[in-house]
Amino acid sequence: MIYFDYNATAPVMREAREAWLHVTEKLGGNPSSMHQAGTRASIALADAREKLAAYLGCHPLDIVWTSGATEANNMVMHHFAKKLDPAKKIFVSAIEHPCVDDSSKHYFGKRVKAIPVTRDGVIDMDWLTAELADERPGLVAVMAANNETGIIQPWPEILAMCQAYEVPFFTDAVQFIGKMPCKGLGDCDYVTGAAHKFGGPRGVGFLKIPHRSQITPLLLGGKQEGGRRAGTENTAIIAAMMAAMEVREKQIAQSQHLLRKVWRDNFEAQFLRALPGATILGHNQPRLWNTVSALMPDGDRKSQWVIRLDKAGFAVSTGSACTVGKEEPSHVLSAMGYKAQHAQRAVRFSAGWETTEADWDALLKAVVKVHGEMQHKA
Ligand code: PLP
Repeated sequence: MIYFDYNATAPVMREAREAWLHVTEKLGGNPSSMHQAGTRASIALADAREKLAAYLGCHPLDIVWTSGATEANNMVMHHFAKKLDPAKKIFVSAIEHPCVDDSSKHYFGKRVKAIPVTRDGVIDMDWLTAELADERPGLVAVMAANNETGIIQPWPEILAMCQAYEVPFFTDAVQFIGKMPCKGLGDCDYVTGAAHKFGGPRGVGFLKIPHRSQITPLLLGGKQEGGRRAGTENTAIIAAMMAAMEVREKQIAQSQHLLRKVWRDNFEAQFLRALPGATILGHNQPRLWNTVSALMPDGDRKSQWVIRLDKAGFAVSTGSACTVGKEEPSHVLSAMGYKAQHAQRAVRFSAGWETTEADWDALLKAVVKVHGEMQHKA
């Protein structure tokens, strides 16, 4: 099986497994305990915190470890729901992951103003500029890169606008971290990430939050993480996450992603030639180097593509893993102005650091073959 679903989750890399084993075997104490075993675990935790803070460019105490991005994103919304004046609105992009979208609606209901995106899947900066000039929301939330399309959002520009208006800015950087350089993300007031998208284990992530602000915790019952998140920290998976991030940051610093972008771009060029009627979403926009989000030719249904490619030995996806099973069109494609009949043709190919040029070539051949079969059947 050749795996092209890295935006859903990535395999755990060797360095992360080794870090997990080392901490589990050698540093197994509870980081809150006063004895030496506890102190050793607490030092390992502090090291991981410093490492992440250095990558993001923030204070180590800005970091709160969580069970993943879903928890971290819920924490942000819960915190603002408690903190903001009940009349205040928040601006949330129309293409956020459901764990931001649903939690913002849960806590804020009609007080959420959706930030529209263009047909190309990028935040409508004219809309945002005009709205921010008009009113000051309590929070602006825009993800760094979209999980379904891979389109990179102009978060540095949005951050600068928010800073000018003194509005807190939150970015879900789950798909961005480990594929693009983390540097600069720490300037955002709130940032979230999850290890399993870049070769760390599942069930661990973080929230970056200004350490001087008092956060209202989502989980109560312990003083861990400076009273911001109750529950014994899992030092081993946190160390594993940071081992994975270290590898990815090194690869990015060596520009290893640029060659992979060339492979992806070559695939896209050949794909468009071979499949008349297919479209690549946000084709001319800055996108993650690993993602191809395509509308397959008319008449081809996405579920058939996933099943047929699976049979041919390729794991691909129809979009976000969290929306699989729902027959509704993706909210991301709807926000981009695509009708249900178009959205039904969306297929996502997402590669990883381990994907080779030969894997892309093999995928292309399989796609062409499956397309031929579908045309023949039609
Ligand atoms: N945010 C984005 C952009 C994602 O892609 C995902 C996972 O697909 C999440 C949040 C949720 O992450 P987790 O499932 O690790 O909690």
